[in-house]
Amino acid sequence: MSDPSYDVIIIGSGMGGLGAGLALQNHNPKLKTIILEQHSIPGGFVTGFKRKGMYFDAGAEGIIYADDNQALSQTLQKLGVEQEFIKIDPLEVLYYPNKEITLHADSEKFLDELIRHFPDNESELRTYFENMEKMTEELWYYGPTDYTNSLWTMLKFVVRAKTIRKHILKSFQKYLDKKISNTELHPILSFYNLWLGLPPKDTMAPIGIVVGGNPFLKGNYYPKGGMLGYSKNLASSYKQKGGEILYNTKVEQIIVEDKTAVGVILASGEEIRASLIISNADLKQTYLKLLGKKNISKNDYKKMVVLEPSISGFGVFLGVDMDLTKFPSHLTVFNDYKEIIGPILEGNFTLNGVAMRIPSKIDASLKSDKGTGIVMLAIAPYEWNNKWKITSEGERAAEYKKLKEKYAEQMIKIAERAIPGLSENIIVKEIATPITFERYSLNDGGGWYGPQKGQKRSSYKYPLENLILTGANVDSTGVPTAFISGVKTAEKIIRMKKL
Ligand SMILES: Cc1cc2nc3c(=O)[nH]c(=O)nc-3n(C[C@H](O)[C@H](O)[C@H](O)COP(=O)(O)OP(=O)(O)OC[C@H]3O[C@@H](n4cnc5c(N)ncnc54)[C@H](O)[C@@H]3O)c2cc1C
Repeated sequence: MSDPSYDVIIIGSGMGGLGAGLALQNHNPKLKTIILEQHSIPGGFVTGFKRKGMYFDAGAEGIIYADDNQALSQTLQKLGVEQEFIKIDPLEVLYYPNKEITLHADSEKFLDELIRHFPDNESELRTYFENMEKMTEELWYYGPTDYTNSLWTMLKFVVRAKTIRKHILKSFQKYLDKKISNTELHPILSFYNLWLGLPPKDTMAPIGIVVGGNPFLKGNYYPKGGMLGYSKNLASSYKQKGGEILYNTKVEQIIVEDKTAVGVILASGEEIRASLIISNADLKQTYLKLLGKKNISKNDYKKMVVLEPSISGFGVFLGVDMDLTKFPSHLTVFNDYKEIIGPILEGNFTLNGVAMRIPSKIDASLKSDKGTGIVMLAIAPYEWNNKWKITSEGERAAEYKKLKEKYAEQMIKIAERAIPGLSENIIVKEIATPITFERYSLNDGGGWYGPQKGQKRSSYKYPLENLILTGANVDSTGVPTAFISGVKTAEKIIRMKKL
């Protein structure tokens, strides 16, 4: 066996890969680590692009835990990464047919806003907010601090967290049905269930309530320089600390010798060897393609084949020549008060709920004198309409393009309820389907949040000797959590391998 050229190979420069690389190089700048990224830019789903001078985020839209005293900022500080974050306030404005509701980045202001719109539900809302605050604090103070939660840690937590314990066996939907009599309030209070990719009926009540309450209580932030700027900043810190990144470099296979990962084979056919491999790539891809059936157990193979991806989506990126001064940076238009995630998981593309993000409204450095970039997103199923009418060879031919255009037009029409006149002022239009999200990330089914929640994932972290998986595929989804997952992976390796 030839000597390994690197100490560590990292497959993928998503938040997980960058977090792992940064923590390793920060620990010891003499380490030889390399990140291999199939795309031409770093960041995975924390990304963006420019067209005719206008900037668009193409994935994540906000980052929690980024306030000075919170987990992400503290981790970045520890790694010596300087990054400014801007608080998103208001968090969102929801446009319903008969109401315009502002989600203030302050729970008291948000509660007042809800009471203003739903005065008959004041006392129910006050109790809901009290419980939301209690549950959030319980999680904050007693919650497991590590992803490798032992049964003992979990038991201790459940004993201490009284309010959470009381509602732990209920679904979020059952909780809403019991506590909030006006069903119009249900989609508003469960708005952030989108981040879980699950409808409230499939979410444990405390999880739905805490995830939903977090932005109001702890804030949601936007990185100065946009999502792509943030990823570039992380990649450049990694390089400054001695790390190496190769872009446009797709890993085709992980080389396994004596049940041990020893290197990778690239799409170009080149082999690179290392003492250790970290995969930030999709979980299913890592097992079924990069390792392959012959290198994994029968049991893992069976489980991987049926592993479901999370929801994906449809995006329209519009550059418009319009004055958008009076609009907020984050807004969502709904056709009615129906729950939107369930139908998508059942395979229907309902287009009820169009989110719009205007990055230059949060960060003035992203402004362009050519026009304003608006990102429009809606959740959408991957398998819909024979995988969006791609051909049996996977080509995106005329039928696919026609379908894209048709739904982009519908989406713009819905968006015009909040921002009238969009369709007359378009100077740039790009459209993305779940097939596009799959192509740029290589994530199974173009899944936005890794594999669907509710399936066991962390047990797949260590497929074989010298191979560790990291990021949203094996830990919690989300920008800060995927990054911290990478950092913790590196810390574990440093402890185990004494690097
Ligand atoms: C539209 C959208 C909106 C979102 N909104 C938010 C939000 O507002 N807030 C939030 O916290 N989270 C949000 N998320 C989720 C969040 O972006 C992800 O959970 C997180 O970025 C995942 O990071 P990761 O490193 O685990 O994986 P990824 O970002 O998927 O990175 C994996 C990387 O590996 C590379 N790769 C894969 N296979 C190979 C291979 N064979 N060879 C080489 N490279 C490979 C990919 O190109 C990619 O760069 C959103 C996601 C999407 C898509």
